[in-house]
Amino acid sequence: MTAGEGIIYLDHNATTPVHPSVLEVMLPYWESAAGNPSSLHRSGVQARQGVEEARASLASALLCDPEEIHFTSGGTEADNWAIKGLSAADAGKIITSAVEHHAVLHSCQHLQGSGREVVYLPVDTHGQLDLQALEDIIEGGDVSLLSIMHANNETGSLQPVVEAGEMARERGILFHVDAVQTFGKVPVHPAALNADAVSMSAHKINGPKGVGALYLRSGTAIEPLMHGGDHEGGVRAGTENVAGIVGFGRASQLCQQQLDHAPEQWRQLRDHLEAGLSASVDDIVINGRSGPRMMNTSSIAFTGVESEAIVMGLDLAGIAVSSGSACASGKTDPSHVLLAMGLEPRLAASSVRFSIGLSNDQGEIDRVVEAVPEIVTRLRALSVF
Ligand code: PLP
Repeated sequence: MTAGEGIIYLDHNATTPVHPSVLEVMLPYWESAAGNPSSLHRSGVQARQGVEEARASLASALLCDPEEIHFTSGGTEADNWAIKGLSAADAGKIITSAVEHHAVLHSCQHLQGSGREVVYLPVDTHGQLDLQALEDIIEGGDVSLLSIMHANNETGSLQPVVEAGEMARERGILFHVDAVQTFGKVPVHPAALNADAVSMSAHKINGPKGVGALYLRSGTAIEPLMHGGDHEGGVRAGTENVAGIVGFGRASQLCQQQLDHAPEQWRQLRDHLEAGLSASVDDIVINGRSGPRMMNTSSIAFTGVESEAIVMGLDLAGIAVSSGSACASGKTDPSHVLLAMGLEPRLAASSVRFSIGLSNDQGEIDRVVEAVPEIVTRLRALSVF
């Protein structure tokens, strides 16, 4: 399984290739079992069965009831729905963190546009949110929703979601967790997190793009984002993406089977990469290294070079990584995540994300460690940054 012939793919936090066995179970739902799951004939019944089996697979991973899973078009929709839908019934404040994915941040900003108060919690230099600041704001009262990501997509920093969830539960505040980067890689159990809602996405775990899910604790009231038919328990209208949902279910099953070994292999590869680059390249900073982090993610600042130049240089060498910057209207800004962690803007703009997944092995990491020093040295010599 590869994301491109001859490419060393180290961008698994952006997306992952579809696993062959995921593709295999999806195909019939575009061909022989292509019915609408709401139809009464056998083709429809077959499609409904596929959707419900996938729902059961996700529920077994989350240790929840299948009825608590609602399929969406991806993590972005799940985040939008949670923020807008859970806050609709109560005009209180929304609390989130400064390092959330734009799917959460921009949803919050959208609500601010119509007068909603939103508080963005700061994080420390390791990327962890400030629990004392959270407690102080909660103590101030009038909070309706708390939304915190499980792990950050750029740095892998893990947030203290259990503690945050306890604070929310004690005060009757709804708690949403964006688990797009953790679901399938570490155990994500909404009950243990005290979460009322959890966002997930298939394409981060070797499933297809364009399908995700929102776990909603039984009895939690939510305003629909999509209006129309009576799908997904009557709260998310639209004919289901049957093949995508079936693929998500299979991808989730594969993750559960690999949970006891794949993440440990990723940790070893990540540590090997960081040790190799620390030994062979001067003046690098590993962002968020001393805090709790996801085992597959390494965000590294190569001082004196713009991250885009490194991404392009590595691409020419057949290595796919990401810059830590968001690309907006043709202009690259330093990452809001790294800036919130207190990095100098120039250091933030020099940061590159390596994210490891199922397709990687030690030989690939060795080749990366061999290639990077020469590329960085050449770019530093040319750089006017
Ligand atoms: N939340 C986080 C933390 C993410 O990393 C992403 C994708 O990168 C999303 C939400 C959005 O998910 P999707 O690409 O499925 O819309």
